Formats: sequence, structure tokens, C-alpha cells
Amino acid sequence: MSIQYIKGVGPKRKEKLNKLGVNTVEDLFYYFPRDYDDRSKFSSLALAKDGDKSSFRVRVAGYPSKFRTRNRLDILKIPVIDDTGRGFLTWFNQNYMANNLELGEEILVNGKVSKKMSDIEIVSPTIDKDIGNNVGSIRPIYPLKSFISNNEIIKIMESALESNIGALNEIIPQDIVDKYGLLNIQDSIKNIHFPLNKKMYLRARSRLVLEELLVLQLGLFLMKNNIDYNTLGVEHKKTRIVNDFIGSLPFELTGAQKKVYKEIERDMEDKSQMNRLVQGDVGSGKTIVAILAMLKSYESGYQSAMMAPTEILAQQHYESITSMLKDRGIRTELLVGSLSTKKKEEVLEALKNGEVDIIVGTHAIIQENVEFKNLGLAITDEQHRFGVKQRASLNSKGYSPDILVMTATPIPRTLALILYGDLDISIIDELPPGRQSIDTFAINKRIIDRLNSFVKKQLDEGRQAYIVAPLIEDNEKLDLDSAESLYRNFTEEIYKDYRVALLHGGMKAKEKDDIMNSFKNHEIDILVSTTVIEVGVNVPNANIMVVYNAERFGLAQLHQLRGRVGRGEHKSYCILINEGKTDIAKERMRILQKSDDGFYISEKDLELRGPGEFFGTRQHGIPDLKIANLFLDMDILKIAQLEARNILKEDQYLEKSKNRLLRERIRKTFEDRLDELILN
Ligand code: ADP
Ligand code: MG
Repeated sequence: MSIQYIKGVGPKRKEKLNKLGVNTVEDLFYYFPRDYDDRSKFSSLALAKDGDKSSFRVRVAGYPSKFRTRNRLDILKIPVIDDTGRGFLTWFNQNYMANNLELGEEILVNGKVSKKMSDIEIVSPTIDKDIGNNVGSIRPIYPLKSFISNNEIIKIMESALESNIGALNEIIPQDIVDKYGLLNIQDSIKNIHFPLNKKMYLRARSRLVLEELLVLQLGLFLMKNNIDYNTLGVEHKKTRIVNDFIGSLPFELTGAQKKVYKEIERDMEDKSQMNRLVQGDVGSGKTIVAILAMLKSYESGYQSAMMAPTEILAQQHYESITSMLKDRGIRTELLVGSLSTKKKEEVLEALKNGEVDIIVGTHAIIQENVEFKNLGLAITDEQHRFGVKQRASLNSKGYSPDILVMTATPIPRTLALILYGDLDISIIDELPPGRQSIDTFAINKRIIDRLNSFVKKQLDEGRQAYIVAPLIEDNEKLDLDSAESLYRNFTEEIYKDYRVALLHGGMKAKEKDDIMNSFKNHEIDILVSTTVIEVGVNVPNANIMVVYNAERFGLAQLHQLRGRVGRGEHKSYCILINEGKTDIAKERMRILQKSDDGFYISEKDLELRGPGEFFGTRQHGIPDLKIANLFLDMDILKIAQLEARNILKEDQYLEKSKNRLLRERIRKTFEDRLDELILN
């Protein structure tokens, strides 16, 4: 039912609600508060402590003043008083707040206290003008928007709850509601917006979290390329050569590498198809583990394939494989787009009749016209989700090789569980000995001149630098540095005596590879780029990574970028130019300075960014989460997975009437990927 049927919603309000993504009454009910304000307790300005988040009842005591800082941040301050003292309400880049308030007006505010000397500020507060009604209740705080006030949403919500909540249906099948004693949907919605008390809020929340995760998990289980996990695969032999080979390496495998290889070996010897994800931080030595597995496959009489996301990475792998496995009678070939047609045909032919033992290339090697004699193992490097899809594609061609997916982007366990369900995960959680740590600094743009002289000094000593920006070109809506404008600025001014090149995702693959190669060969001193350089390229002579607008990147992504340096004998540095002003932005920078553990970093990222915003979800094709927090709601997630399986076991396509509403909700949640759902 459209929201315009709610009492008090005319065409103007309807438009505003639409802008929030709220089109139906149901959307409105699922527009959840981001926080709550406990109005039962007011603080007094005289007693306010720095860092407190509190509510105050104040009167506007003067006219607003506005400032603009050097880095173009607008600051608005409005003086207020209460019975005990005085203070300021302060907002950043929200000057419109001045229009909402009048001199002498009495209001309720809730926000974080910042106290410097005896100056009290309440920072970015929410405002409530409705003083009489709400004292003593827990009030929702909705995500802040410029075109609609919190109070307006509250009024609409109250009106909708009063007259329309009766029409809202339970989508969770009744037996599950009973089994877990869940609060029914109508009470849950009422209490998530206007909690009666803390206990009811918690019951409402966990029920809504379960609903959200159940829908998410069912949707993912119903994706076409989510294969069932007990297909027969290749049964590899117990092998000897691999052990000899391990003994002949110039270094000893780390404990973690040994443990992970054991897990792989066990899967490969098993007759069901291996489907294993190996997570290991940059530099943890995943390649060698992959080589061991390929050698095992070779010894068992099978071919293996290794795929990388770019030609240059494929080339890199090809080189390390051939150099490590030389003199063993193993034929390894590279298959990439830039080969001549003649060479390509030759490789394809040799692959088909079994003369090639190991093939390395981009993912083109499992597509189109490629045929194997007996593919036993397929490995993909550096790309999650790829493994699942590619397995489906190989299976559909009649191969069922063991599958190994390697990734350096740590996926927190919760996310991995959702994405891959039963996929087995191995973790290389130890770096080879003797790695030097990378000095990481978070700096302010004010000291950019010092940074530039530092970079120049390193370049003069023969080193190279990566400089990364969040955008390809300037965007008038976003006040951010772009790779193109930095490049222009560097080549015309700051670094005009150095060899600077530009690299970004908008370029052709060939162009990118050429630039990367020149950087590798030290024909370039500074590479200005977007995050395209994030994955796996190895340039040991590069020892500086500078990231502009570091606050715009995910922590895991910054950690990946940092992993591009510290790969050679030179002391390496990562400089994060942080322009984020919030406490969270600062905390995020501190985490990177403090830790070089990719798993810890990504879990922290998930925790700090909260649901929906987490770096990976969109990229993984998961719809934004409205209420569940993958980090905190692990227990509920497990229940959701269990029940999702039970439901599908009984009703594979959700055709039974008790699952009808659930099915509708899944279709709505996954509307961007409807063609992948096996539900029609
Ligand atoms: P990544 O996990 O990032 O793919 P690589 O496999 O490229 O890491 O390994 C990084 C470097 O560490 C390589 O030069 C590799 O030869 C080396 N290496 C791998 N394992 C060990 C080990 N156990 N001891 C010492 N060096 C190792
Ligand atoms: Mg690698």
C-alpha cells in the first residue's frame, strides 16, 4: 500500500519519503531508527562532561555564527542556555540547521558533549521541538537528512502505526516463530520504533534481525550458482614428490603454510570435490601453497589451472611457477590475451591432448574454446566469488576438478559463512620470518610539503612511490582529490623533475599492463593511480605508498594498498592523508597504524562501519542490511542458516502457502539479481 494513504501524508511528504527510499507503508515500517534517545533523563549544561552523549532541555540564547575552515568545512554555532549554564550547539556542513531555530525558543537536544576549558559544545545534536509530549519516553532517532526532520518522521510513523500496523503480515513461518518464542511482527515493529522499555526493544530487534538474515540466507542459497556441496570430484593420490620438493625449498614453510597444505591435501585425496578458500594476508606465502597443490595434481596424473585477475599477475605467477618447478619435466604454459594467435592455438592444442601440465592465465582459461584432457585442480587467485562461479562453469563443461580459491582480502568469518555457506576455509595466519614492518603514518594535509620532500628524498635514493586517490577525475559534488588532478599537479609542479605516470580503471587492460610493466622496470618513479593497483603486483623497489583521502577507503582496502610496499629490502612507508574529522575516522587510522594483521583490521572495519556500510557487502552482491550487524549477530546468523536449510529441505522452491510471503520478500530483497534466483 502506498504511503500516501497514511493520515497526514500529502503529496509533499510523499515526495520526501520517496527520497528516503520509502514508497510503501511496509517500507516505512522497515525504516529503522539509527539510535534512541532516552528522554527519561536530562542532563544539565553545568554538569556536562566531555564525551557524554546526553539530552538537554535548552533555550536558544543568541544568533547563530558561521565559520569556514581552511579545508572548507562549514561550522555553525548556536548559543543556548538552560537553568544551570550556557553552551553551544555545533554542526559541521549543516548550515541549514540555523533556519530551524528561533531566538528564545525552547527545545530538547541530544548529542555528544565536547568540553574545552569551560566551553561546552553539543556536537551535531538532534533537535526536538515537541517538548510537552515526550518527556520520559524512549524516542527514535532516524538517519539525519536535510529535507526531513526527525520529528516529521516520528509523526508520520506514529500515524502509520496507529492506523496501518494491523495490515502487516508475518513472513516468518509460524512454526519458527513458535520454536524460538519470537515477538510477533506487529509488536516488533512497534517496539523497534517506540520501545516500551529496553527489554522489549531487544526482543523486537532480535526478531527483526532474524527475519532479515533468514531472507538474506535463503536468497543466497537460492542463487543459481550456489551448488550443492557433495558432488563427486577428482580423487588425487597420496604423493611423495611434494614432500621431497618441500625439503628442497630454500626456506622452511611456516607452521601456517604446513597446516593449510595438510588441509588441502586431505581434501584432494578425498573423492568428493574440494571447495576450499585459502585466506592469507599479503605476503603470507599463498603462491607456494598453490604450487604444492599443483605439483600433487601433476604427480597424480592430472592437469591443473591457475587463474589471476590480470595479465600482469598471471605473468608473475607463471614466472614463479616455472622457476620453482624447473627440471622436473613439468610443462607450464601461459595463456593470456596478448599472445599471438598462433601461439594461442598451439597452447590450446597441447592442453587438449594433455601435453601441458599446468596452465596459468586470466580467467579466460576456463571459458570458451578451452578444453582440457583431464583437469584435476583449478586455482583462482585474488578474487572472491570468482571461485563459486567458476566452479559452476567448469562443472557445466563436464569437469569437476578440485577447487582452491586464494584471497588476500580477509573476509570476516561471518561474511564468509553467509557468502559461501559450507565452503571450507583455511587461514594462513602467520607471515614468513624476517618481514620488516611498514611504518604507517596518518597525517593532515597541512604538512603535505613535508610529505613531498620526504618522498623526493626517497626517490633520489633510487626508490619508487605509489600515490593513490579515491577518484579518477574531479567531481564537483565531492571535495576529493582525483588521480588526474594530482597527476597534472605533480607533472607540472611538485614532481616535474621525476618520471610520473597515471594509471586508472578507465584505461584499457593493455595500457594498464604496459604502465605497470614500466613501473616494474623502474622507467617510472611515481605511479599515480586509483585502487586498481590494489591486488598482488610485486615491485620490490617501491617503498612508499601515499593515500589521499584515506578516510574514503575501507580499512581492509587500505591494508591491501599498504601491502604493495615492504616487498623488498628497503624500509617502507605508508602515509595516509586523513581528512575525516569524526572520531571514527581517527580511530580507523589508529587501527591501521597499530596493527598489520589483515584479519584483525577487517573485523574492526566491520565493527566500526556497522551494518550495510561494510566494505564487502555490496561488492559481494549482498543487499544492504537494515538492522543486522554481521559482527554482533553471529548467533542469530547461525539460527538463520539452520532454519533456511530446514525450510529448503522441505520446500525447495518455496511453493507451499506458509512460505509464500517469505518468497515474496526474497524476490523484493534481491530485485537486482532476480535472474540469478531459482524462484519463478
Ligand atoms: P602472497 O600470499 O601475498 O601471495 P607470496 O606467495 O607472493 O605471498 O609470497 C611472498 C614472498 O614470500 C615470496 O617471495 C615467497 O617466495 C616468500 N615466501 C613464501 N613462503 C615463505 C617462507 N615460508 N619463508 C620465507 N619466504 C617465504
Ligand atoms: Mg599472491
